Amino acid sequence: MSKQDNLLRLNVGFIAHEDVGYLREFDFEFPKLHLSPGLDLDDVNGSARFSRTSTGLLLDVNFSAVTQSECGRCLDEVTQSLETNFTELYAFNEKSVTESGLILPENGKIDLAPILREYLLLEMPINPLCRPNCLGLCLECGENLNDSEHTHEKDNIDPRLSKLKNLLDDD
Ligand SMILES: [Zn+2]
Ligand SMILES: [Zn+2]
Repeated sequence: MSKQDNLLRLNVGFIAHEDVGYLREFDFEFPKLHLSPGLDLDDVNGSARFSRTSTGLLLDVNFSAVTQSECGRCLDEVTQSLETNFTELYAFNEKSVTESGLILPENGKIDLAPILREYLLLEMPINPLCRPNCLGLCLECGENLNDSEHTHEKDNIDPRLSKLKNLLDDD
């Protein structure tokens, strides 16, 4: 779509022509980065180091960013720090390919976006919380209980249930 999609496309073919042990590092610093589908990152910092081995290009990535998600209890926006470090081999041919199945493309261009996205998704909490003791939403009126803890006078059952639920969630 946008030029952003190309930010992580690296031309690394030349490294294959260097001697074993040759290193080349690419540094990233972007205020914003979109990894499609659906992962929007801010404050992106990282590096990708490629080293020439006898069987392929060994990639070493260090990456950090923040992303916005939703609190699993109160639906407020949560700023999530993400950090990942990984190593993958882009093999020269099928014989040397690893479990990840990565092969150095003939044109020597590697797009880090898909693999980076996969590793970052592993770092995303399944149930993010805005704070460890988030009180969630009122079962009766849907109001955020972190803003105003309250009870409803008409019917006391629901608030009690909600308190009980919070106790259960806390342990
Ligand atoms: Zn919350
Ligand atoms: Zn309420």
